[in-house]
Amino acid sequence: MAATLHVNDTQKTKILATIGPASSSKEALLDLVKAGVNVFRLNFSHGAHSQHQQVIDNILEINEKYNLHVGILADLQGPKLRVGKIENNALPIAPGDVLTFVNEECIGNMDRIYMSYELFASDVKVGEKVLVDDGKIVLEVVSTNGFNEVKLKVLFGSVLSSNKGVNLPDTAVSQPSLTVKDLEDLDYVLTQPVNWIALSFVRQAKDVKDLQKRIQAKKHVAKVVAKIEKPEAIKNIKEIIKASDAIMIARGDLGVEMPIEKLPALQKMIITRCIQKAKPVIVATQMMESMITNPSPSRAEVTDVANAVLDGTDAVMLSGETSVGSHPALVVEAMRKIIGEAEAHYHMHMKRPQPDPDTETFLSDVLCLTAPRLAEDVNAKAILGMTVNGYTAFKISSYRPKAAIHIFSDKPHMLSTLSMVWGVKCYLYTKFTTTDETIEDVNAMLKEAGELQTGDIVINTGSMPLHKRFRTNMLKITVIE
Ligand code: PGA
Ligand code: MN
Repeated sequence: MAATLHVNDTQKTKILATIGPASSSKEALLDLVKAGVNVFRLNFSHGAHSQHQQVIDNILEINEKYNLHVGILADLQGPKLRVGKIENNALPIAPGDVLTFVNEECIGNMDRIYMSYELFASDVKVGEKVLVDDGKIVLEVVSTNGFNEVKLKVLFGSVLSSNKGVNLPDTAVSQPSLTVKDLEDLDYVLTQPVNWIALSFVRQAKDVKDLQKRIQAKKHVAKVVAKIEKPEAIKNIKEIIKASDAIMIARGDLGVEMPIEKLPALQKMIITRCIQKAKPVIVATQMMESMITNPSPSRAEVTDVANAVLDGTDAVMLSGETSVGSHPALVVEAMRKIIGEAEAHYHMHMKRPQPDPDTETFLSDVLCLTAPRLAEDVNAKAILGMTVNGYTAFKISSYRPKAAIHIFSDKPHMLSTLSMVWGVKCYLYTKFTTTDETIEDVNAMLKEAGELQTGDIVINTGSMPLHKRFRTNMLKITVIE
């Protein structure tokens, strides 16, 4: 029998941690799990496949050894643009200066600067803004030869250094969401048991569908997270949420590509829509940024994490804090405490969405909505459900019930996929004989695990007859013996 670690299991909001040099060893990963991480994010903007492989092996070993279901999210870089090397790693610039971007590698100076995007000169138009180094430098296109050279006037900024990121908020970028590098990374990722694959700089639903098709073609079951970090994605948010399995509010690039003061309202808008469509949503970037070096968070960070919880997000994400920071486990512990305090004040402030009678899932959706209502009426301790593809878990979670959510599946992969979902705790159950027996079994399992006690009321959801594997079609109130 594997040792069991009880970690982060009283909280509903999940924690994602990005892995990097500060956290990739087996010991460091275990410390993060003990501190409360639910899902690890592998960032394919950095690191060789062999390094990612080592991390994946370590995570799988921890899951096996401690009987856990920590999830894995592989984040593809997407069309992230950069300037090349700069002479002496510092080029002094001033408003009014004119820079020349070319698509041929060179050491950058006042005459020419390499920019990594092949089609830059044909995509940009005169007057469009080009942002460099997280918006610390603002440029405006003054001319393009449509082929390999663009002249840009400096509107704002003082020094340009090597390899800084470039954002094109105004430009219709013709490059597909999956670059040559992404396709190579994807080939590798699809040989691994990852649960989620994140797609950067999504612009439309088609980008997401294209990735899903590639995943299905390899008979992989990973689900897709669309990263919202472009104005075009905000414009198409409804269709993107519909097509995606989950959403990441990628505030890093989004805060460069959109006026930064719009972030708080955008975050609330996206979270609300995701909850209404039962799609898990992640709030990402700079949540505990000062803890990359400091041992405690700033007041603003504490408030930001708490507000994300109060907005109803499924998960909060750490980036540099855990990948290159000085004390990754301390950050996760601090985050967990903030989440705990905030959740005591969280209640779903929007109306639970009414199921749509015109969908084929209508009847089971009504049941999933009834479960949390019933749970409230009878003061139930928990709602229990079965899932094959995650649907019931996403649905029940999206109603943000006060009761605990315990989900059983015979697909081991599904358990770690659902680690990212608000409030969901997962268990492997492979028997599936009759509905009566299954209900008795799962209730007993939870009692043995210490999740339920004699006298507790639970709501069992399930499908009858069991062997037909219909969607959820029954509810039962049980008093634990
Ligand atoms: P990144 O995505 O860290 O891959 O850039 C997150 C963000 O932009 O916020
Ligand atoms: Mn980004």
